[in-house]
Amino acid sequence: MAREGTDPPRPLRRDERQRPPGPIRWRSSLRNTIYDVLQSKKEWVETENETEWDFFWADKGWIHHELDKMHLNDWQRINHFPNHYELTRKDLLIKNLKRAKKQLEREERYMEAAQYNFFPLTFVVPSEYRMFVEEFKRSGGTWIMKPIGKAQGQGIFLFNKLSQISDWRRDHTWRPDDEDAPETYLAQRYVDAPYLVGGKKFDLRIYALVTSYSPLRVFLYRSGFARFTNTRYSMKKEDITNTFIHLTNVAIQKHAPGFDAAKGMKWSIHSLRHFMTTRHGAEASNELFHNMQNLIIRALLAVQPAMINDKHCFELYGYDILIDQSLKPWLLEVNASPSLSASDTSDWTLKFALLEDVLDIVDLESKREPGKIDLHMGGFDLIWDGGPVMRFDKPTSLPTMLGAYNERDRNQLRPKEDGPSHLPTQRPKRAAVSVPTSGATSGTEGGPPQAPPGAGGAAFAASLF
Ligand code: ADP
Repeated sequence: MAREGTDPPRPLRRDERQRPPGPIRWRSSLRNTIYDVLQSKKEWVETENETEWDFFWADKGWIHHELDKMHLNDWQRINHFPNHYELTRKDLLIKNLKRAKKQLEREERYMEAAQYNFFPLTFVVPSEYRMFVEEFKRSGGTWIMKPIGKAQGQGIFLFNKLSQISDWRRDHTWRPDDEDAPETYLAQRYVDAPYLVGGKKFDLRIYALVTSYSPLRVFLYRSGFARFTNTRYSMKKEDITNTFIHLTNVAIQKHAPGFDAAKGMKWSIHSLRHFMTTRHGAEASNELFHNMQNLIIRALLAVQPAMINDKHCFELYGYDILIDQSLKPWLLEVNASPSLSASDTSDWTLKFALLEDVLDIVDLESKREPGKIDLHMGGFDLIWDGGPVMRFDKPTSLPTMLGAYNERDRNQLRPKEDGPSHLPTQRPKRAAVSVPTSGATSGTEGGPPQAPPGAGGAAFAASLF
């Protein structure tokens, strides 16, 4: 006989389940500034549990090997998109940029296609070696070779003769197991007239946060920094092999003769914008910074069709941008794991604030009204939300807030009493130090770049906040 009574409750669908009551449970694969930020959340608890977490700051290896096997609950959040490499692997980025440009040309949207002119001409070798040679014979010049699987300037060299890259002559791609096959590299046109300050080359690290690819939603951080070489720039033939002149990576520069971590090699973007405005006028400086913002968005639009939009994911990208002497910005690469190790107190302060603002936007505790997105959140500005965001609260002459004064304390989700003063004044003793740089730029040769007016010497990297 059938038992009387109601049917057993239907199991809840994944998207109907709620986060269990209690504190946010977080995990972190990294032990640097993100760990400090998570630890500073007094009401959150750390967990080592493989599956029972609400927030996980994972390394890329975990994402590639484990994410596929997991069934995440609706509320769980993780810091990478599963195939972020479409944007962050050097060769795939170029492939996607070229494809986006071609697609626009096919649709006869030539003006827009022309906007994809922010990456230097690039070939993947050995597979595109022949095409590269054709171009090299036609235009010559200096080129840079970059291994696709390495970072921090490793394996990079400049060349101006074909004989210098003869190892890449044969295409081995049709024999995938070929042990003699050279490592895959990009052969990229070298931007040989970079913008110099104090005679030295620099590139920029800019942070952008993507919380969704469909629709594409992008926040741009106002603060970031310029990283200088320690040695004056030169395009003399005998200097072509000198990586201290040509590569701005901190990992390279810290071995440069006369490198002095205490003097430092960095400027804040805020200081750079001030400097550019003073030197070239507001119009030219605004255009440069606007072009950088556009480049950041265009790169994301180019990879959008290839990206798996997983609603559990968000990603903080570190863009590397080089400015040339005609004030044109060039995209060098996009990092999915921008260094979160702090080199000194001002670096730690910047990264701590940046990550705190990321967590506020991800909003694990659902503090924000559902569906409500503010234009300014902490030091981030919403710059794309399924389309351009050009709605400013008040009339402004700034076409982008990149490098503008970081008003993160005014744009907080957390209560005011948690505001500016809640930032620890000292980094924990444990904080990792992997890249020794600090303060304003200086160098052994030619002296430091002049400080932008109103921003005094070593103080201006710290003057961001
Ligand atoms: P990595 O991932 O090893 O840092 P990048 O592509 O960022 O590789 O290049 C390292 C450095 O080399 C850059 O920071 C920049 O200083 C220099 N560089 C790279 N590509 C170019 C280029 N096309 N023109 C001029 N300088 C470049």
